[in-house]
Amino acid sequence: MRRIGIVGAGQAGLVLAIGLRQKGYDVTVFAERPADEVQAGRLISNQCLFAPALQRERELGINFWDDEAPPIREVAFAAAGEGSEPSMAWRVGLDRPAQSVDQRVKVSDWMAEFERLGGELRLRRIVPAELDECAREFELLVVAAGRGPQFDALFPRDDERSPYREPQRAIGILYVDGKLDAVPGLTFGMSPTGEFFLLPVLSVHGPAHGIGFFGVPGGPLDVWDSVADVEQHYETARRLLRTQYPWQAALLDDARPVAPTELLHGRITPIVRHPVGTLPSGAKVLAMGDTAVTNDPVGGQGANLAARAARAYQEAIVDRGDRPFDEEFMHAAFARYWHHARPATRFNNDLLAPPPEHVLATLAAGQREPRVAHRFAHLFEDPADYEGWLDDPEAAWRYLQSGAQSVPGAGTAPTVK
Ligand SMILES: Cc1cc2nc3c(=O)[nH]c(=O)nc-3n(C[C@H](O)[C@H](O)[C@H](O)COP(=O)(O)OP(=O)(O)OC[C@H]3O[C@@H](n4cnc5c(N)ncnc54)[C@H](O)[C@@H]3O)c2cc1C
Repeated sequence: MRRIGIVGAGQAGLVLAIGLRQKGYDVTVFAERPADEVQAGRLISNQCLFAPALQRERELGINFWDDEAPPIREVAFAAAGEGSEPSMAWRVGLDRPAQSVDQRVKVSDWMAEFERLGGELRLRRIVPAELDECAREFELLVVAAGRGPQFDALFPRDDERSPYREPQRAIGILYVDGKLDAVPGLTFGMSPTGEFFLLPVLSVHGPAHGIGFFGVPGGPLDVWDSVADVEQHYETARRLLRTQYPWQAALLDDARPVAPTELLHGRITPIVRHPVGTLPSGAKVLAMGDTAVTNDPVGGQGANLAARAARAYQEAIVDRGDRPFDEEFMHAAFARYWHHARPATRFNNDLLAPPPEHVLATLAAGQREPRVAHRFAHLFEDPADYEGWLDDPEAAWRYLQSGAQSVPGAGTAPTVK
């Protein structure tokens, strides 16, 4: 049995670990915290997973929450205008529902599942100096320890693939429950000052809603550094809705924070790293998930990409047969993953810049033409469609001028009534 070590028990590492265990590999996962501490800990993410990522979990039989998790069936988009009404708005169904299950729930349940399958879970926080010792024990050591800075030096920034050097959004997330007048899905509000998202979540406290604000640095949504607790966060969120997204002013009036721990503030620098690290001994290690590619959460891609990485790396490992997991193997495994991660990263990074004319025109066309809205909403699920469409102004204008229905990939789903 080939021996694989994985540093990090998160969305990426555990899905890979469980998949490999099911194929008979001898897998060890190094976890920073035991399952009960993860479950009782602070909020990690908003983790909206779209159909392809959910499909991977279903293939592995680790979709334990399908009966309880509220399905995300629609995307409702609106952009701020001059007055209190949005300048444009549309609402469209997703072909296959998305879902957000609190990562604290997932990680703790998956740790138990991994052990049930005979995997070895070692409770140990690995510092970089210990990696050589770990690498000697395994034929392949994967580092799936989330975003920096601990392993940043091992996996340097890939300048060509990383357009940003600073965080592009100030992020504030809160879990609320109560009565919310919201669509059964993802609500997405845009303004020049930043974005807000609302989505139903199955949290550690049961069904709730996650509301996230993504503020352009220095602007009116860049307020989270001085927010101390959930009550202040809740009042700040209501104020931002009134002032920045006035058509949603009353959204949180009948909602309440779920618990004092259920908030998250931060800033994330989007970055792509060189995925193969060289240890002092000369041994090589392979980065995965956020350790390899970190996106700002504005486009909801990171956990989806973690699932993609788990599939790509597993396939690469299995296809390798008995041959060594050398540097060439590691680059090839990452290339399989990058095939999916490249368009997702491009789409996500472009969302952080002020939208160019052709993107605004496409969003506006979504109001009149459901198929345009449908295609845009499905970019979150399948960002591959971004390339050759919205990343290319000429192609985007051609698409609008040609009549959306005649363009391949435009989709056929009707607007949700
Ligand atoms: C506010 C916010 C909202 C988000 N919303 C979405 C969304 O809607 N959709 C989406 O797809 N993505 C979203 N993301 C991104 C998503 O959460 C991450 O991309 C995803 O969790 C990455 O998975 P990972 O396994 O690579 O890293 P992580 O989930 O960070 O897991 C890494 C694991 O490694 C462990 N670890 C760290 N260091 C060590 C060490 N030295 N030794 C041992 N273990 C270690 C950590 O404890 C953790 O368990 C969001 C992120 C944030 C912050």
